[in-house]
Amino acid sequence: MSTSSRPVRVRFAPSPTGMLHIGGARTALFNWAYARSQGGKFLLRVEDTDTERHSEQSLQSILDSLRWLGLDWDEGPEVGGEYGPYFQSQRMEHYQQAMERGLQEGWLYRCFATPEELQRQREEARAAKRNWKFDPRFRNLSAQEAEARAQAGEAFVLRFRVPSGQSIVIDDHIRGQVVFSSDEVEDWVAVRPNCMPTYNFVCALDDAAMEISHVIRGEEHLVNTPKQIMVYQALDLEPPQYAHVPLILGKDGKKLSKRTGDTALGDYIAKGYPAPALFNFLCLLGFSIDDKTEIFSREELIQAFDLRRISKAGAIFDTDKLHWLCGDFIRKMPLVELRQALAPFLQEAGLIDADDSDSQPLNQLVAAFQERLSLFSEIVPQARGLFGEFPAYDEKAQKALGGDNVGRILGLVAAALEQESWPPANFAGLVKEVAAAEELGMGKVMKPVRAALTGTLGGPDLGSVLQILGRERSLRRLKECHLALEDSLGQG
Ligand code: GLU
Repeated sequence: MSTSSRPVRVRFAPSPTGMLHIGGARTALFNWAYARSQGGKFLLRVEDTDTERHSEQSLQSILDSLRWLGLDWDEGPEVGGEYGPYFQSQRMEHYQQAMERGLQEGWLYRCFATPEELQRQREEARAAKRNWKFDPRFRNLSAQEAEARAQAGEAFVLRFRVPSGQSIVIDDHIRGQVVFSSDEVEDWVAVRPNCMPTYNFVCALDDAAMEISHVIRGEEHLVNTPKQIMVYQALDLEPPQYAHVPLILGKDGKKLSKRTGDTALGDYIAKGYPAPALFNFLCLLGFSIDDKTEIFSREELIQAFDLRRISKAGAIFDTDKLHWLCGDFIRKMPLVELRQALAPFLQEAGLIDADDSDSQPLNQLVAAFQERLSLFSEIVPQARGLFGEFPAYDEKAQKALGGDNVGRILGLVAAALEQESWPPANFAGLVKEVAAAEELGMGKVMKPVRAALTGTLGGPDLGSVLQILGRERSLRRLKECHLALEDSLGQG
């Protein structure tokens, strides 16, 4: 059956050796979007043959991260499926069969060159200033002799017998036609001396066994593709189609790394990036719906997804754009949902209890800050001064409180506020009256009032601040500040 008429089956194949990387998350997303756009299947295959580096904890965090992004898989860990097992560590029997078949059919052969011998050859080549080329001197050893040496206990690897003089043509959905000559590929190691098959070997075997129709993965794997195609050819199977997605670069144009920001999805989750905004942002790392649309939903992505709209050029990870997308998303959130998203951060900071997650001041806080957040966690420093203990006056607040008559003004505002019902219907009017009586501009009253209430000069409108603080705390803060200033005058 030709690959174009195969049912669409794509896979994401993480190695659980750490947290899910941003690049991996994007690869998973493109696979998912392709499957969903084509009515195909999205598989998850765990590449865990490297038992020393793989961990259960890492696997769990990868699965959690994928779920957080909303990438559900049709086959794989925790959901099963007809093509399992989906853990490579459980597929050894399958690989063993392929090794035996390869030896029998001759596309795999035993190579007895020791690591020391290969190292020595490399050094000699370096000393003679020529390029080292692997010397396939065991390629034509007779099967009997190879068998006898193996029986005698000599260590060997299994190498793939690369056919000579062949062109390997990849019609990549993103990169167009890429041609490799088999003469550029040495007889590569398919199975290590400890009988562990290598990535290229098992990847191709599994893609074949799981009937993967399209391999969508990072560009760094393009060099592996000819080797994997050779395995398909040896098995007399038609290779899948390929799409190699571009690298993700930092703003400095270099490969994204810890140096320029977080690279693990888990860090973004912990910092309170809204999942749909990060989802949208990851799509834009190389993909576009058209020339102008930047904000789209999952459904719109599925409608429009096309591998050919993924660009070849490296995708720039622009954190300003990410924050803008997140802010935009938060501004459009229904308040109830935003409150639910913010509450865990406030609880963790000890600013609210689990049971006051629906309290009036919290609702007011959420409404007051909705316009100002780009991450959920940003609510914590904002809320600290309003929900927690009174913060220290910052520099600007101190300056605003240092003017003439400020103590007296605060006393007047507090007294006027005390006469009002709660919440005050017209606080701005009240301040205006005090300002007029004192023959001052509004700002001369507003600023110190804000400083006395919040310890800073930024923040939402004062009407919201009063509501969040409540009557008692608002009056207490105004009066305490008034008394402290009067006191210092008295002493001065
Ligand atoms: N386990 C490989 C990786 O994490 C999979 C590569 C592939 O998709 O073929 O890079």
